[in-house]
This record gives sequence, C-alpha cells and structure tokens, in this order.
Amino acid sequence: MKRTEQISKLNDSNVEWDVIIIGGGASGLGTAVDAATRGYKTILFEANDFAKATSSRSTKLVHGGVRYLAQGDVSLVKEALRERGLLERNASHLAKKQSFVIPIYKWFDGPFYTIGLKLYDMLSKKLSLGKSVHINKEKTIEQLPTIKKEKLRGGVVYYDGQFDDSRLAVNLAQTAVENGATVINHIKVTDLLKDNAGKIIGVKVKDALYGNEYNVKGKAIFNATGVFTNDILNMNDPNHKKTVVPSQGIHLVLDKSFLPGDSALMIPKTSDGRVLFAVPWHNRIVVGTTDILVEHPSLEPRALEQEIEFVLSTASQYLTKKPTRKDVLTVFAGQRPLAAPEKEGESTKEVSRSHKIMVSNTGLISIIGGKWTTYRQMAEDFINKAIQINKIPNKPCKTENLSIHGNIPAEKVDRTNHLYIYGADIPEILKLQQENSEYAEKIHPNHDYTKAEIIWAIRTEMAEKVEDILARRVRLLFIDARAAIDCAETVAKIMAKELGHDNQWIEKEVNEFRDLAKGYLLVDY
Ligand SMILES: Cc1cc2nc3c(=O)[nH]c(=O)nc-3n(C[C@H](O)[C@H](O)[C@H](O)COP(=O)(O)OP(=O)(O)OC[C@H]3O[C@@H](n4cnc5c(N)ncnc54)[C@H](O)[C@@H]3O)c2cc1C
Repeated sequence: MKRTEQISKLNDSNVEWDVIIIGGGASGLGTAVDAATRGYKTILFEANDFAKATSSRSTKLVHGGVRYLAQGDVSLVKEALRERGLLERNASHLAKKQSFVIPIYKWFDGPFYTIGLKLYDMLSKKLSLGKSVHINKEKTIEQLPTIKKEKLRGGVVYYDGQFDDSRLAVNLAQTAVENGATVINHIKVTDLLKDNAGKIIGVKVKDALYGNEYNVKGKAIFNATGVFTNDILNMNDPNHKKTVVPSQGIHLVLDKSFLPGDSALMIPKTSDGRVLFAVPWHNRIVVGTTDILVEHPSLEPRALEQEIEFVLSTASQYLTKKPTRKDVLTVFAGQRPLAAPEKEGESTKEVSRSHKIMVSNTGLISIIGGKWTTYRQMAEDFINKAIQINKIPNKPCKTENLSIHGNIPAEKVDRTNHLYIYGADIPEILKLQQENSEYAEKIHPNHDYTKAEIIWAIRTEMAEKVEDILARRVRLLFIDARAAIDCAETVAKIMAKELGHDNQWIEKEVNEFRDLAKGYLLVDY
C-alpha cells in the first residue's frame, strides 16, 4: 500500500468511480472494504491519517455493550455481539477474548449482575466467548490483585472482546487496496461537485502534503466523517440541520502495576451513571471513560480538567494503588459522533448508539453514530442504501467471512511477542531485521518496537508523518507519551532517508510531533 501509487489513480480526470468515500475512520474504511469486495470501483479520501480522529481513541473494546443492555437496547447489543464474534474470527491477530470482573460490594448486586450477564451471554448465541459466573471474594482478589478489599463480597466474571483500533484501521485500508480499492490519506475533500439539477456527482480534493487539487467524479458519494459530518453536510446544503453532536470521552494510561494480571476491571455504575473500565492493553492499563457534550468537533481534542479528576478519583475509589497525575503515562481524548437528539429536551445519553443512514436531497449518503465493534454491519447497510436508491447496481455483501489483512488462526497468535499485531506479516518484519542488523535495534530502550516496524510502516502502511507512525502504526504515543517524544527524532531520520526528505523536514516533523505529544501528558516534560 503505497501513497504514490494510490494517488496516481487520480491523474485521469475522466474516470467515474462507483463509490467515493469521504473519511478514513472505522466507518469509511469498513465501507471501502465492503464496496471493493462487492466489485465496485472504489476510492476513499482521508483528510489526515487513517483513524486519526475517533477511531484511534476508543476504549479498545469489541463489545456488545453491557450498558446498552441495562438501557434496554437489546437489538443494538445483539448486533454488536454478533459482530464481536465475526471480528474475532476475521482479525484474530488484533481482536481477542478479554475477561472482565465486576467487583461486588452490596449483596444485591451479585445476583443482579449475574442474571444480567447471563442474558448478555444468551444474546451472543453461538458466538459467545465464555459463560459469565459469580466468584467469591478470594477469587475476585486473585483476578484483580489491587482491588479495594474493604466490604468486598465477591465478583462477577464475564467475557467480551478487545482489540487495537488504529491497527485494525490500517489493516482495513490494506484489505480494501488488496481487493482493488484506492485509499489515500492526507487528502481532504474540500467541496462537493454537483450537476445542473443540483445532484451530487463527485468531490473536489486537495492533497494536504503536496498541495495538488483534483476533481473526482462518482456515482455514489458516502459521507463517513464521524464528528465532522456536519461540515460535509454544510458543503452539501448550507442550511442543513445540525445532525451530529460530539460527546467527548477520555482515557488515562497507567503502568501495569496499578492492575496486575490478565483481567480487566469493570465498574458498572460510577457517580455520573456511566461505566468505568480499567483494561490491560499492550502491557499497560487503559482507564476510562467519560461522556461530555462539547460544542465543536476537534481532530485533537484535549482532556478537560473535570474528566481527568473524575477518572483519577473513580479509579482511586476501587484500587489499592491509587493513581495520581504524575502516574499517567498518556492521556488521550476522543469524540463520539452522536446523533443529535430529535426530540426537544432529550439528552444524548438517551439517544440510541446504533447507527443511522441519511440520504440528502442531492443524493449524498451520510452515516452517523455506531461503534467500532459494528463497523462491518454499518458498512454493509451503508452500501445497501446506495443500492436501494439506485446509485449502484445490486451486488451481494461479502465481508461476513472475509479475512482482514494480517489475519492468522487464533491459536497461532503469540501475544508474548510484541510483533503479534502484525499477524501474517511477522515473517516479513523479521526478514527486514535479518537483512539489515540496524533494523533490529529498538527505537526506545524501554519499549520493544524496532526500526524494522518503522520501515514496514513507511513501505507498506502508508505512514507519511512521524505522528502516523508513533500514534497509529506503533502505539507509543498512546501508551507512553514521554517515550514517544524521546524517539521522534530517530523515527523522523529513518523516514527522511526512506522517503527522500531533507534536514528541514526532519526538524519540522520533530517539532510538530513534540508539540502534539505534550498534549498527551499531564505533567510538564
Ligand atoms: C471515548 C470513546 C471510547 C470508545 N470506545 C469504544 C469501544 O471500546 N468500542 C467500540 O466499539 N467503539 C468505541 N467507541 C466508538 C468508536 O470509536 C466510534 O464509533 C468510531 O471510531 C467512529 O468512527 P468513524 O469512522 O465514524 O469516525 P472517525 O474515526 O472520526 O473518522 C472520520 C474521519 O473522517 C475524516 N474527515 C473529516 N473531514 C474530512 C474531509 N473533508 N475529507 C476527508 N476526510 C475527512 C477525519 O479526519 C476522520 O479520520 C468509542 C468512542 C469514544 C469517543
């Protein structure tokens, strides 16, 4: 997957694409895979990098959503549990079974959560990951060694899925390309092209790296821009009604000693009525999240003081090792693209988290809401909508059993080796290390990532900027922001050599990345 090759497909302005997708997050990339595998001539434009926005900032759960079950949204939970099972089969290298423990402090909560989670198991049918069970106090402490012991009565164990969100995004982009799609990052849709009747016939795009502009024509145009949906709808009709509201959530990443072991902690009801997770991920603990409506969408949202305080104090209520600001290795914030409430006075917490598809008068098709877990079903529904309104001919969806790039049988995934996220590509990365001993060197002494993964990201994963690598190809920015700052220069130098950039480029990239990464820290560095 090389950007120069992909972008060269734009040189012929007479080409008419079947499917043009705006946005390279979970929704857009899933749609590119769906469209390409059905056999449509497909192109996707991502203004920044794949998964730069919400899709790299999730809680990393592939889940039905215990909370949605409590809210009575059974159809959403059923759909998500089915998709959870499919993803674990189709991307075994990235998605795995994760055990969660709910600690019980009040006697009534034991039977309450056990019964609720049995229902959760039942809804997942054949794709269940394991049975929920009530466990006693000793077993609860065994699974959650740092849990608060005072008044602890026991726990309930249940199983859900866990994954690496931006790695899945990159692998989806590769899968789309392998099936004939063109996908390009760092290229922004700046306007919509319309015919004399006002119907949409294409998009105008601008290459954010080199400045070139192109007009691209297509039959079906899909708006998959998450919290930026309103911007595209504005291009379509300046008088459109606000359709998406961003709801922010943050995560704090801590050292594994705050919650040793393999199990995740789930607090089903925090003081703000949400759930809080503390989940092991890449040998660290990810704790979150929050749910706060914000006025404007942002590509780089920042955690609010009230969110940081909330996560730290809630975690401290349940953990014997209490986290403080200085223990936070990274803080990252993301924004949910929630459907704006339709009824007066309704809050976003009451709005269903299932996805909605809208067709504008001009023919633009937009998707809003949804979750990473359901991206495949969302993409199927999105393309089906275009068929239904006669934009493209009917062809059946093929993604239910489609292996995603890198997929290998689950039993062959060795999670003790940090390269496991590359699945079927591992031998190629090892080959790079063998061919050039410098590539076997680590980029940071405290982390396993080697120069080979940087080379791999440049040559095959369309990484164009230092941030693309350190944030979304290897996840260093999301697990240890200080370490990411420390190795920005090393990465920039490797990139400059591979891509033919000069010293000025290195300096600019390093400064840009360091400024960005400082926003992922809670204390000055
Ligand atoms: C805090 C938090 C925790 C979450 N946890 C989970 C979880 O554990 N499990 C789960 O299943 N889901 C979770 N979600 C939900 C999930 O992350 C989102 O539903 C999903 O990532 C949204 O993907 P998207 O593609 O719709 O949007 P995005 O990922 O935001 O993608 C939209 C893309 O469009 C691009 N774009 C915008 N304008 C243009 C333009 N003009 N031209 C070209 N491109 C453009 C943007 O750059 C962006 O990359 C969570 C969400 C949040 C906020």
